[in-house]
Amino acid sequence: MRATALQRRTTPRRRAAPRRRHDPGYTGETRELARVLRAAWIADPEPCAVCGSTLRVQGHHVAEKQWIKALARAFEYSVERLLRALWDTRNRLWVCERCHMGHHAFEGGRRISRTLVLTPALVAFLDEHVLWARFDRAYPEGS
Ligand SMILES: [Zn+2]
Ligand SMILES: [Zn+2]
Repeated sequence: MRATALQRRTTPRRRAAPRRRHDPGYTGETRELARVLRAAWIADPEPCAVCGSTLRVQGHHVAEKQWIKALARAFEYSVERLLRALWDTRNRLWVCERCHMGHHAFEGGRRISRTLVLTPALVAFLDEHVLWARFDRAYPEGS
């Protein structure tokens, strides 16, 4: 039965709009590429760039993965280009788990400073993927 106009107006919409996903069309080959790139991303960790700890050091994506995925959708990156961007080590900052959590915490966290992350390698990465606007919001000048 079709809902009347009144029912349509008063009934809350239950169904969320289907999430539009970028379907990059993975194949066996690109899955293998993803595996290799991820392995390279976590290889040979260095001490935490923030506090110097060597405990539980992880690679922080300075340009967040969701920014890169949004770019990939907008510019219709191929799967390979997307994967290479996601796991590009120019965009990696080694941080310990504690400093990493602090950076991503909604409240009471300690954000990683712009001066710490802005290496020449990162500049090249941000240029290549047009990510400066988002970067400037996340890591404001003077931070
Ligand atoms: Zn640390
Ligand atoms: Zn992170």
